[in-house]
Amino acid sequence: MPLSEFQLIARYFSGLTAVGPTEGVVLGIGDDAAILRLPPGEDLVVSIDTLVSGVHFPASLSPRAIGHRALAVNLSDLAAMGARPMWFTLALTLPDANEPWLAGFAEGLGQLAHRAGIALVGGDTTRGPLSITIQVHGVATPDAALRRDGARLGDELWVTGRPGLAALGLRLLQSGARENDPACAAFLWPEPRVAMGRALLGLATAAIDVSDGLLADAGHIAERSGCGVEIDAACLPLEAELAVLSREDALALCLTGGDDYELCFTAPATAAALIESAAENLGLPCRRIGRVVEGSGARCAGFRPARTGFQHFGASIDA
Ligand code: ADP
Ligand code: MG
Repeated sequence: MPLSEFQLIARYFSGLTAVGPTEGVVLGIGDDAAILRLPPGEDLVVSIDTLVSGVHFPASLSPRAIGHRALAVNLSDLAAMGARPMWFTLALTLPDANEPWLAGFAEGLGQLAHRAGIALVGGDTTRGPLSITIQVHGVATPDAALRRDGARLGDELWVTGRPGLAALGLRLLQSGARENDPACAAFLWPEPRVAMGRALLGLATAAIDVSDGLLADAGHIAERSGCGVEIDAACLPLEAELAVLSREDALALCLTGGDDYELCFTAPATAAALIESAAENLGLPCRRIGRVVEGSGARCAGFRPARTGFQHFGASIDA
């Protein structure tokens, strides 16, 4: 007998209310709406992202990786704001109630939720082509959150992790590489930089998470801050896996690859030592890759984007 919607929620999702701290959950799954109580004096930080099968991830992706990804891309937005994750809701559209699929999806989702300390407090379940929407709710001290619009002339530009690695991983997966290859793992298991985002409060002047490619996303900081951003190709982390590619190919992946979910941010030079030690404490690579300059847009000297860039799965309609 196929699972009813209520059985499905009870079996796979009700348990996820308790994976995080139940802080502020006055009423969770089971009623017409959740009731959530903000910590006194804190602002609510909200973001939503939809993943459509075949558009935002390959239809062949394992259910566990899909569950992880759906929450990871949302947590990455909270990370970019320096917010503390609290609660999330899940709108799931499924072609059928496939139990092995649901079990894998709930496992991937639940493991990341547990690590991030974020509780599932409600959602919606419908039938149709596979699509997953998650809305995350975080909190931040008033006026402290990181935004895209605070970069100042003379600030340094930084990036965490290894931008381009995930795009290389997707390319390798599509040509049959093993999932435990480091580049493939970077695509399959993006790690939202929540702790780093919070460590950057009071240090960074502007921040964004890199989902559509480093150059494009650094360009959003430039645009919102009313300045230009210059990336220094010689400072980009093109070593290890990317080093086997031609320099041109490695640069293209690093600057335009997408699906990185790293943080790109600006900070005054006086904050550099504190940023380096925060990243080191978290075991997270983090580098200065350029600076905020006069003008507009983001550019990288010596790199001209190819006319026909490849399509990555994180491409959005307006990309
Ligand atoms: P309603 O008919 O009032 O919209 P539903 O029958 O859709 O309520 O949902 C019943 C309860 O189950 C609600 O508390 C809702 O938040 C929760 N819920 C539904 N789908 C999901 C899901 N995919 N994940 C988590 N909670 C869900
Ligand atoms: Mg209702």
